[in-house]
Amino acid sequence: MSTEQKIIYTETDEAPRLATFSFLPIIKAFSDAAGVQVETRDISLAGRILASFPEWLSEDQRIADHLAELGELTQDEAANIIKLPNISASNPQMLAAIKELQGQGYELPEYPEEPQNDAEQDIKNRYDRVKGSAVNPVLREGNSDRRSTKAVKDYAKKHPHSMGDWTVNSKSHVAHMNAGDFYASEISTTMDQDDQLSIVLRTQEGSETLATGIGVSAGEIVDAAFMSKAALCAFYEEQIAKTEDGVLFSLHLKATMMKVSDPIIFGHAVKTYYREAFEKHASVFAELGVDANNGVGDAYDKIQSLPEDQQAEIKADLDECLVKGPDLAMVNSDYGITNLHVPSDIIVDASMPAAIRESGKMWGPDGGLHDMKAVIPDRCYATVYQEVINDCKAKGALDPTTIGSTSNIGLMAQKAEEYGSHDTTFEIPQDGQIEVMSASGEVLLVHSVQTGDIWRMCRVKDAAVQDWIKLGVERGRLTGSAVIFWLDENRAHDAQLITKLHRYLPEHDTSGLDISTLKPADATKRSLELMRQGLDTISVSGNVLRDYLTDLFPILELGTSAKMLSIVPLINGGGLFETGAGGSAPKHVQQFEAEGHLRWDSLGEFLALGASLEHLGRVFDNDAAKLLGETLDEAIAEFLDSNRSPSRRVNEIDNRGSHFYLAKFWAEAVARQDKDPSLKQRFAALAERLSASEAQINEELLTAQGEPVDVGGYYAPNPELAAMAMRPSKTLNDAIDSV
Ligand code: NAP
Repeated sequence: MSTEQKIIYTETDEAPRLATFSFLPIIKAFSDAAGVQVETRDISLAGRILASFPEWLSEDQRIADHLAELGELTQDEAANIIKLPNISASNPQMLAAIKELQGQGYELPEYPEEPQNDAEQDIKNRYDRVKGSAVNPVLREGNSDRRSTKAVKDYAKKHPHSMGDWTVNSKSHVAHMNAGDFYASEISTTMDQDDQLSIVLRTQEGSETLATGIGVSAGEIVDAAFMSKAALCAFYEEQIAKTEDGVLFSLHLKATMMKVSDPIIFGHAVKTYYREAFEKHASVFAELGVDANNGVGDAYDKIQSLPEDQQAEIKADLDECLVKGPDLAMVNSDYGITNLHVPSDIIVDASMPAAIRESGKMWGPDGGLHDMKAVIPDRCYATVYQEVINDCKAKGALDPTTIGSTSNIGLMAQKAEEYGSHDTTFEIPQDGQIEVMSASGEVLLVHSVQTGDIWRMCRVKDAAVQDWIKLGVERGRLTGSAVIFWLDENRAHDAQLITKLHRYLPEHDTSGLDISTLKPADATKRSLELMRQGLDTISVSGNVLRDYLTDLFPILELGTSAKMLSIVPLINGGGLFETGAGGSAPKHVQQFEAEGHLRWDSLGEFLALGASLEHLGRVFDNDAAKLLGETLDEAIAEFLDSNRSPSRRVNEIDNRGSHFYLAKFWAEAVARQDKDPSLKQRFAALAERLSASEAQINEELLTAQGEPVDVGGYYAPNPELAAMAMRPSKTLNDAIDSV
């Protein structure tokens, strides 16, 4: 274990990157007093690109691969990393970042869309490694612990967000398949030894190895499941036909994270809904390369290269499908953007809770709210949302001023379950039999599949499962709340997990704890019952439900998941502290550049810092760090209570003002305590100084707003310009720098 008492604060992208220029000096002023060093590592998109091409850069331009370094650090017991949200780059973002860096004098190669030789292929591979969800899988070497802190929950109870009313007459419901889905076909086994697996497709024409050399370890659970294309399309046909008048057809998937399977599932919905137009224009669409998996928007984009009369004919045929079919839920009714336009517009974990907050309604083509048929094809998790709808219909909307809290312990470590399955997901090219084979040639799992079926293999390691069970019990012990393992004995994968649960649970002291295992629909029902009684529950779930539930319950309780505490207790003992569950808020940067107001709320950073200090204090037995953690909690409560979060409007408090108030309340809280006289004295001086100059600091911070701001780059801001823009109050800077 490293003996250095150190917190690594990550430099990322967009709004949280800008916020760091203002908040980091404050963090350092406090942590220094406890002998804790705060170092930064650059894991921004720009930083990761530069680290990938050292030989293209001059020596002073090169930066080390900080992400790889942090990946290694996660194995150290002393690791303490605060991870801010970063860009998961799409192709356009990648290209824009390369262009910006080139403009700043970094002579990076162009991104070769279609590599012509080995050298170009190598360049493309390096860029592609930086693309998509490239950071979290490296750092998340642990399971996940997400919850709202007492201060945040109290704040939400006192200042409740709006919740739409529910009536028993609501027609909103969830539609899922009853056969032919992943749920129906899942098979699972637990490895009894380390092995190297292969995936082989056997067809009449021979055998094709789809993947090989997949290392697995003893005790690892390995599953296979597939979604039948025929069953999926029949399901869509049926649901489209059955959608009642006045109810919106609305598809909810997770095409961003499930980047292989879900775009295909989305594409079948597009082709089914727009069948007549897609069949009539099949050859033109093929020539243009229209890909339904990118949404019907891809057809609208690509027909623009056609003569106007041909475009008009195709548009009319697409429109005809909208007239004949049920009304679609809209992403933007002003621009005619439907739920089937772009696969990443409607993401189930955020879209379903948002609809539930709106009385189960979504926006329709007429610009009004309507009941919805929420189409979530696979049954594994769809039932959760139907249960929430049932509950709201029967008992009315949940009341944020009284409901209890549902926190989550999620099985996430080491690319667990579906979220780690991208490399082992395939669209079946030909009818046949697909086999998962051991190195010795034993067939472990086998399915008969048909052309177009979506087949995948998922895994979860035994050590990850053991740690997850331990964390669930620990949270139960610490809180006394009911612990519910969200597992369905009728699912092959869950049945294996239940066997492990029975094996490992007795290793823990569970006396007096309320621990149960319920399938997702029943777990939802029980959690809601307890919440309505004002009681808290701990959901202990798999990786996908972790993601879904840590949006669903926080959105119902707090109005947003961005206010959650999100900790990854690393399996080797260290701590990864994620700052909330939100992203990097690109819209906020646009506003900052246009009018000098940054509405980013750093509450997630505050909470993560508190947890990080508390962890460091415990690991190194550093009482001063513990004290700083405790006093930061008090400061956060006061910060929320006195409503010092950034406003959305220019010329009102923004991110920088919110940092000032946090520093003030934190200094006051340290000055109030008597456990550590030296800290007390040090921060009493700061508290006095900040209090005396409150009006002056506010004036300096507000004067900096109202004008466009140039920080010298979007993906790679110039550090001096950004620091100047984000620290415009000399009075505040002097006070902080004096500590
Ligand atoms: P997002 O950044 O979460 O933003 C969605 C909206 O949520 C924002 O526009 C903002 O609403 C609100 N929001 C989120 N966090 C907030 C905060 N701290 N303070 C105030 N408002 C906040 O989602 P996105 O636009 O889907 O994703 C943007 C980028 O973040 C993408 O590149 C994505 O890949 C990445 N991402 C990263 C992580 C991660 O690293 N953990 C997680 C999710 C997404 P208003 O505009 O109404 O103010």
